[in-house]
Amino acid sequence: MTISTISSFTPKAPTLMGPGPSDVSQRVLNALAQPTLGHLDPSFVGLMDETKQLLQEVFQTNNQMTMPISAPGSAGMEACFVNLVEPGDKVIVCQNGVFGGRMYQNVIRSGGEAVLIEDPWGEQTKPEKLKAALEANPDTKIVAFVHAETSTGVENDAKTLCAIAKEYGCLTIVDTVTSLAGIPLYIDDWQIDASYSGTQKCLSCVPGLSPVTFSDLALEKIKSRKTPVQSWFLDLNLILGYWGQGKARAYHHTAPVNSVYAFHESLVAVLQEGLENSWNRHREVHNYLKQGLESLGLEFAVDEAYRLPQLNVVWIPKGIDDASTRAKLLNEFDLEIGAGLGEFAGKAWRIGLMGSSCTKANVDKCVSALTKILSN
Ligand SMILES: *Cc1c(COP(=O)(O)O)cnc(C)c1O
Repeated sequence: MTISTISSFTPKAPTLMGPGPSDVSQRVLNALAQPTLGHLDPSFVGLMDETKQLLQEVFQTNNQMTMPISAPGSAGMEACFVNLVEPGDKVIVCQNGVFGGRMYQNVIRSGGEAVLIEDPWGEQTKPEKLKAALEANPDTKIVAFVHAETSTGVENDAKTLCAIAKEYGCLTIVDTVTSLAGIPLYIDDWQIDASYSGTQKCLSCVPGLSPVTFSDLALEKIKSRKTPVQSWFLDLNLILGYWGQGKARAYHHTAPVNSVYAFHESLVAVLQEGLENSWNRHREVHNYLKQGLESLGLEFAVDEAYRLPQLNVVWIPKGIDDASTRAKLLNEFDLEIGAGLGEFAGKAWRIGLMGSSCTKANVDKCVSALTKILSN
């Protein structure tokens, strides 16, 4: 192929029912396509301020330090760990899937001493285990865990885990990438000190930003560090000068201006629907999907009591080929579902009902496509 045969790219745009990204609505795409402003243009700075306020509402927090990091969810994760973990700090990480494992790696790379408590894939983190680990490690500074474990479809009991961490005087870092706007999440009420999320899951925005929020307690720890944050780009002391309060904004990096337009629009859309309505819609459409999948004989990998509505993990039936089934869904039915990840690779499918993708019409499309493929 020669370069001259390459022209503009037009995606086929299948329906996205995997673990993210989810379908981006036309209104968000329209926002993205607005003219680019200078990144210190006063009207862009005004938009940044509004974006922070909207995000505070969606996170249910009064934290001043609430903003999007200019990079995907994984960068928000790093921002939390590199800022809060100082060399030698003991951090308990609860792992019951892939994303808890990434937290563990972040603690180690930040020079912290990681204590890992593990629970089996598909099960919840057991609060008793966290309590026992805190008893055994009274010098623990931080407890970290994933609220919605996208690799298994499990919801961890964030409120209870944070309450235990607080009994022992610890800060809490919680991954809310898949939970934000999909299931109830209360940053302040649950005493979450630092959290990172993503735009491309239940907010249905384009990928590439990571909403984060930090409590005053977390800020105190960052301000009183004895060593500088090892990452220049993710050092919150520096980022604050750009996203911070007050009129004077100092150049730190060039914000992804158009992505911030899209993010702002997605937050406006969620709040126009209403946060609780959004949570309820995810639950209702999940129940509808559950009926459809169970009528096909598919079984969920996760107990109903702590199953995520926005991420449905089902076992692949015996005799059915994983990759070719997903390829057929994509090629013949314009539908993307997710493969299993980590321990669940080849064994389970991950069917996402996130944000704009979370509709009964999409469930109908998915169940009828699976019916046709599985009956062949
Ligand atoms: C998707 C996801 C991430 C990573 O987000 P990226 O935007 O892909 O970097 C982290 N944690 C969880 C629970 C996720 O589902």
